[in-house]
Amino acid sequence: MSKRYRAALVWLRRDLRLDDHAAFYHALKHSEAVAPVFVFDAAILDALPRDDRRVDFIHQSVAALKAELNALGGDLLVRQGLPVDEIPRLAAALGADAVFCNRDYEPAARERDAEVARRLSENGVAFHAAKDQVIFDTDEVLTGAGKPFSVFTPYKNAWLKALTPFHLQAYPVRRYLGALMPRTPEAMPSLADIGFAASDLSSLPVRPGAAGAEALFADFADRIERYKAQRDFPGVKGVSYLSVHLRFGTFSIRQLAAYAWHDGGEGAMTWLSELIWRDFYQQVLWHRPDVMEHAFKPEYDALPFPNDAEWFDAWRDGRTGYPLVDAAMRQLNRSGYMHNRLRMVAASFLVKDLLIDWRWGERYFAEKLLDFDLAANNGGWQWAASTGCDAQPYFRIFNPVSQSEKFDPDGRFIRRYVPELARLPDKLIHAPWLARPEQLADAGVRLGRDYPQPLVDHAVQRELALALFKR
Ligand code: FAD
Repeated sequence: MSKRYRAALVWLRRDLRLDDHAAFYHALKHSEAVAPVFVFDAAILDALPRDDRRVDFIHQSVAALKAELNALGGDLLVRQGLPVDEIPRLAAALGADAVFCNRDYEPAARERDAEVARRLSENGVAFHAAKDQVIFDTDEVLTGAGKPFSVFTPYKNAWLKALTPFHLQAYPVRRYLGALMPRTPEAMPSLADIGFAASDLSSLPVRPGAAGAEALFADFADRIERYKAQRDFPGVKGVSYLSVHLRFGTFSIRQLAAYAWHDGGEGAMTWLSELIWRDFYQQVLWHRPDVMEHAFKPEYDALPFPNDAEWFDAWRDGRTGYPLVDAAMRQLNRSGYMHNRLRMVAASFLVKDLLIDWRWGERYFAEKLLDFDLAANNGGWQWAASTGCDAQPYFRIFNPVSQSEKFDPDGRFIRRYVPELARLPDKLIHAPWLARPEQLADAGVRLGRDYPQPLVDHAVQRELALALFKR
């Protein structure tokens, strides 16, 4: 790209930061004047509940970035509507001859971006999409036969082999800020202006914007060496909790991967592996956009799940009678977050104990997760349902009681979210129906009244699930 543009827009989407930002860097480097813009996309927002926490998170993150740009003498232009209309309109109004953005791999976003590019080109405006969200994208990591990987470990090995310092190098955006278009700050639409009410975000331990991401990262960096040992225990602060920031790009993936890579310790390298899973599922979605609706393995696409709607409601509300599953679902409902071990347990329980189509669960997670990411969520659900790429084999079925005994041995996590069981001894909290009546009475628990009897018998459902998959 040797051409220098007169003026350019940098269109921010899931990359709400200034530092180490590929599109921002390219725009600044190749244009005389750059105006950043964010569009509250009606095509996405119209489908969401009016108190969706994610919109609040984005709104606050956009406001923080706008304040940062204002302090630098520029502005972040904030619009609402359809980007296919807003971006070409703004480009014309500012006399921009180029629009820069970071590539998005989701099918709807790909379609939207292609249409924006088409409309811009009609007016002679160039459209550039850069890689920013992942370390390797599209066809950068392929098998020896030039095909996309469908098994994680060889993908990871090829990913690590392909990695050079170049891939982790930060884009020095601030060095080129001289090309930021000077602007008098415009007012930004409030959350109410875009049709949303404030959510309960401020009551959660989630801080939006790059500052929120940095604070979380600083906290995690102090304990990254313990990640491998602690990451599976939801009652322990073992994971990074950075997923929402990776989702909205308030922290750069390159900086995180570089930190882990340079650290090189056991904890850091295990964590890097999780970041590689993130790339892995993005490339799956890129190559197989049909996974949005269908099983990655076509032979599992039409499993005859009975899909009991009442059982689904009990799962959704954390009333299955299996304490770890219920604690997990209540964590999700309350905070918009669920620990990875619990996502696997709750998803497996829905599909293989309650025999409900994974797509029902995927949809519910998509509504509730603050960090909802189409590629990772779909990949996670298809993994748990054994329908996906490199998924758990169908005959390996999580036992929700032994998972609980293993990963929440002292019931610390269960007690936090299922307080009605808090007084049960550690040994009994994983399967209260096995307690003797006097043990329940001592703990003040009346099964079936204070806390449900188990909805199903795991041993029975396991056999039914095996039969369903075999068929
Ligand atoms: P950490 O353990 O600190 O991991 C660091 C980062 O690595 C995460 O923030 C995430 O970006 C990435 N990562 C970790 N595990 C995975 C994984 N298995 N697949 C892809 N990326 C991963 N993750 C999402 O970001 N959004 C989702 O919508 C999502 N839905 C899921 C649904 C199911 C059924 C399952 C089993 C997993 C899902 N995951 C999803 C993956 C994982 O559970 C979360 O990324 C993780 O729990 C986020 O917490 P953390 O940031 O503390 O993770």
